[in-house]
Amino acid sequence: MEAKEWKEKVLQEKKNGYDRMPAGEREAMDRYCAGYKAFLNAGKTERECVREGIRLAEEKGFRPYARGMELKTGDKVYLDNRGKMLLLAVIGEKSLAEGAQITAAHIDSPRLDLKPSPLYEKNELAYLKTHYYGGIRKYQWVTIPLELHGVVALKDGSAVTVTIGAGDEPKLVINDLLPHLGAEQSKKTLAEGIAGEQLNLLVGSEPLEGEEKDRVKLAVMKRLYEKYGFTEEDFISAELEAVPAANAVDVGLDASMIGAYGHDDRVCGYAALKALLDLEEVPGKTAVCVLADKEEIGSVGVSGMLTAAFDTFMEDLCESQGVPVRVCLERSFCLSADVTAAYDPNFADVYEERNASFLNYGVGLCKYTGSRGKGGASDASAELVAYIRRIFDDNGVIWQMAELGKVDAGGGGTVACYMANRNIDTLDAGVPVLAMHAPFEVVAKLDCYMTYKGMAAVYKN
Ligand code: MN
Ligand code: MN
Repeated sequence: MEAKEWKEKVLQEKKNGYDRMPAGEREAMDRYCAGYKAFLNAGKTERECVREGIRLAEEKGFRPYARGMELKTGDKVYLDNRGKMLLLAVIGEKSLAEGAQITAAHIDSPRLDLKPSPLYEKNELAYLKTHYYGGIRKYQWVTIPLELHGVVALKDGSAVTVTIGAGDEPKLVINDLLPHLGAEQSKKTLAEGIAGEQLNLLVGSEPLEGEEKDRVKLAVMKRLYEKYGFTEEDFISAELEAVPAANAVDVGLDASMIGAYGHDDRVCGYAALKALLDLEEVPGKTAVCVLADKEEIGSVGVSGMLTAAFDTFMEDLCESQGVPVRVCLERSFCLSADVTAAYDPNFADVYEERNASFLNYGVGLCKYTGSRGKGGASDASAELVAYIRRIFDDNGVIWQMAELGKVDAGGGGTVACYMANRNIDTLDAGVPVLAMHAPFEVVAKLDCYMTYKGMAAVYKN
């Protein structure tokens, strides 16, 4: 053989996804991405994602699961865990004793939560204090319009849904210093330039008529009371999240990318959900989709991936077939679907080009995540990576390998280790993202669509 033939036989050639995707898939990709953008616009918090997820699932014939319910092949069920985590399943032809095909993604995103006693007035301006959630770069959250979404739970047991700043409503903002007076601030590091306690939302400036003190604060609280019926004390039992006030948009003159808040990890969450909803045939094994909360703060709590809510859901499904859950889990497969860092030529020095993931090269497979020598990674087995290579290739999924960054440049975790700890063979895969955790993140449409195709391939295999 000549060198050219040898090259084709033994060397790997990486190719842009646009040179590999059949022309006929273009339209399906665009349609899929339009649906994804609509999902992002409807789901700016984990609660809203659950609500929208349920709406979409019910349209496709999914029913709420109740313990003890009789389940037969082809049944489609979902479980709403406290409005913040969504579990869905399509019962397969085979017994759960042969395992389930699981995808797990998270629907919480970094943001600014209101503190329990947030409202104050200073120099006749009213503010709301926040406590950030997840790994944010604080300087990115100033001087951009923000909205406030969430719930206020009242003592009588009722809860009020709050959305402030949606559509044409007035927005909220956190101010930064003007450059003219910013000399000292500019000497600080990026991490220190804006402090956590400076992340205060400007919410009002017009005083209520009268002689009282803090009349601007009073005017804001009066407005909230009139619109939503809650008082200052009710903030204590509220979950109000400040999120960027912008809908998802196409990015680039070629509109090949999507810019939005919350791609991490709704881009994988939507792919996992949509692929399950779109299953046309009853899958061989039972297909399970988990949309978890709290990943950004360690997957803890009743709605995070460490919750027993997942185990009991699986146990309930197994019980309906008389199968011990441990038998099911040890034969199950989980694709932990979470975003990865896309190679950014603008910041090339933190990436290792040979192992980084690139925009438009398809869904990124991560054998391991973690930091400082793979710490915190589940580190999938070689056999498992081979399994996914096979089913992705067999199903026309364009994929690439993905390592988050240079060794020791930093790192990150996903829910993979929590699934693997349950004795489920687990592998990470997800969409490469530019500017992850920023209020406006960027992904490539091709990668979004290929992630959806990848999820579908997992459910079918
Ligand atoms: Mn994530
Ligand atoms: Mn994240």
